[in-house]
Amino acid sequence: MAGLERLSEELEQLKQQGRYRLPAIWESGSGSWMEMGGRRVLQMASNNYLGLTDHPRLKQAAIEATQKYGVGAGSVRTISGTMDIHDQLEQELAAFKGTEAALVFQSGFTTNQGVFGTLLGAEDVVISDELNHASIIDGIRLTKATRKIYKHKDMDSLEEALRGASSYRSRFIVTDGVFSMDGDIAPMPQIVELAERYDAIVCIDDAHASGVLGHCGKGTTDHFGLHGRVHIQIGTLSKAVGVVGGYVAGSRELKEYLIHKARPFLFSTSQTPAVAASCLEAIRVLRTSPELGERMWASANAFRSQLQADGFDTGASETPIIPIVIGDSARTMAFAARLLEEGVFAPGIVFPTVAADKGRVRFIITASHTADDLEFARQALLKVGREFGLV
Ligand code: PMP
Repeated sequence: MAGLERLSEELEQLKQQGRYRLPAIWESGSGSWMEMGGRRVLQMASNNYLGLTDHPRLKQAAIEATQKYGVGAGSVRTISGTMDIHDQLEQELAAFKGTEAALVFQSGFTTNQGVFGTLLGAEDVVISDELNHASIIDGIRLTKATRKIYKHKDMDSLEEALRGASSYRSRFIVTDGVFSMDGDIAPMPQIVELAERYDAIVCIDDAHASGVLGHCGKGTTDHFGLHGRVHIQIGTLSKAVGVVGGYVAGSRELKEYLIHKARPFLFSTSQTPAVAASCLEAIRVLRTSPELGERMWASANAFRSQLQADGFDTGASETPIIPIVIGDSARTMAFAARLLEEGVFAPGIVFPTVAADKGRVRFIITASHTADDLEFARQALLKVGREFGLV
């Protein structure tokens, strides 16, 4: 046990800072109302943007694939773990994203490990938005590339970094498409313009934008009409797509290079048949169901406007991710706990994920939320907001 005593000391510190929390445990499947601790609670924390986790066609695809192929793939992709459904999923994803090819990983997190860990070397520089997701940060940390961080969405700061980067073999600009803690959108037209001026590669992580932005949820590149000008599009199959997994979409060479070199792809068993088949079905549903996204957007925009009219600070939100900024960690966690007592589940997000004084409770509006659900949430928020002196 020598040395492990510090774990309990550090856990104690987290408790004192109001940052100690174990995962909430659910007793029912997906949907807007779920069971927790024997109570029905309004779910406002899930990334299941379009309600696909519960879609009959996805469930049926998973059942049929399990019956046909079994529950496991049995091997990594490059040995004997590539089935026709993995291949079809990649073809479908490439068509959806408007790229030559796509490659699937086990999660969005490992996609970023694979893409950045493989493409970047000591001769390269990567220029990353300061609010990019942890999986991008960790992917970059795997490499010897020079790292530069630009201020959030600040194009002067990005240009300054690019100006000093001409001597590198290549310059990679990387940004989230939709930022997960604020719900704001990266200024892609300006980023692409700067990239073209300074001969840089543009890489976007569309985890929260796939299924959300663009026609039928094709993502940020489609939203801004930038097809052919974004070199690497990363996405997850775990949020709006409703299942689990990640992918990168781009050129055929990019795919083939990653197949040969990306360590999470090479050394980890491929997606289970049920996962691959339900992801494939999800993309097919997405391509023909614009109404799901339209419903989600209408609800999200109405909810955000209402909260703002009520006097809440929704920060920079412009998507179905809607934070309410509360303050320090302890106050934020207390707010989230009171909200749960009122029957609404939304997580408190605190330092170090966000700045120490910008703790927030984050709501995600999905196509499954009804007008009545959102009114229920609003009434709970008004009640707790008054107790905390926020409105
Ligand atoms: N990138 C971003 C921007 C994310 O928000 C997330 C999800 N938290 C991931 C990657 C990781 O995706 P996954 O959950 O599929 O591993």
